[in-house]
Amino acid sequence: MQKEGKEKPKVTAIVPAAGSGLRMKGKLPKQFLLLDGVPILVHTLQALERADRIQEVILVVPESHRYFCQTEVVNKYHFKKVSKVIPGGERRQDSVYEGLQAVSFDSEWVMVHDGVRPFVTQDMIGSAIEAAQEAKDGAVVAIPMRDTPKEVSSDVPAGQAGHITKTLDRGKLWLAQTPQIFRRSLFLKAHEAARSQGIYGTDDAALVERLGGCVRIVLGSEENIKVTTPADLDLAEAIIAMRRVTNRIRNKISGHLTTRLSSERPLYRQGRAGGQKKGSS
Ligand code: C5P
Repeated sequence: MQKEGKEKPKVTAIVPAAGSGLRMKGKLPKQFLLLDGVPILVHTLQALERADRIQEVILVVPESHRYFCQTEVVNKYHFKKVSKVIPGGERRQDSVYEGLQAVSFDSEWVMVHDGVRPFVTQDMIGSAIEAAQEAKDGAVVAIPMRDTPKEVSSDVPAGQAGHITKTLDRGKLWLAQTPQIFRRSLFLKAHEAARSQGIYGTDDAALVERLGGCVRIVLGSEENIKVTTPADLDLAEAIIAMRRVTNRIRNKISGHLTTRLSSERPLYRQGRAGGQKKGSS
């Protein structure tokens, strides 16, 4: 917990958005495809721009789209927190590493959030930062596993499913999403170690866990999807449409309640004035 009056430590967000998006089968990398009329990456950056605990954003993009990103994303949508737009590497981990090199030295914490996860909420960002500070080393937004996970043999030709070798206890299993946040010094050490040993983790936390870091889990959401395939893009559009309907209903209900309360108040006052006269019944 942050002590009152104490300055809050600086948090820099790295946004890896340097993938080529081959699974999307389009010419444009998936992070630049339009969602509700604006690039997916813009939705993601808007969430980080709104988060008052994040002071700086390092955007990592394909070298070929660096100018496009600077002009059509950062400048056009007035992202003031984006301090650098830098080229990424061959794999996601390489891109995060490049981002890490560009983080200011006075940043105590580094948050990594995928450019293609547009539905991150302010709650997730805030809870992840608090949990990381409590755990000392880091925190990861994740959701509990609902289905039963099976370990399957891999001694079959590519593209075919093998037979089950083990059933895992889903009660202990969570699916990691982003944001993931780590103490900068440890995160840098974890990346350097993995790099020198040629190790690629499937997420950022895996590298920190290898060094024995204490990383806490924070509850994410089913809606915090990674837009990877055309079906994900359809789902993302559906989530936006659903949120719009929910907001409209919420506004209608609160408007209705406000009208009702303001029209009932005079009656209530009248009732009290009339009903509390001594001796009246
Ligand atoms: O599909 P994948 O899990 O690799 O993508 C997650 C995020 O990592 C995306 O925002 C993607 O643009 C980014 N990425 C990257 N550099 C790569 C590959 C992926 O920044 N070389």
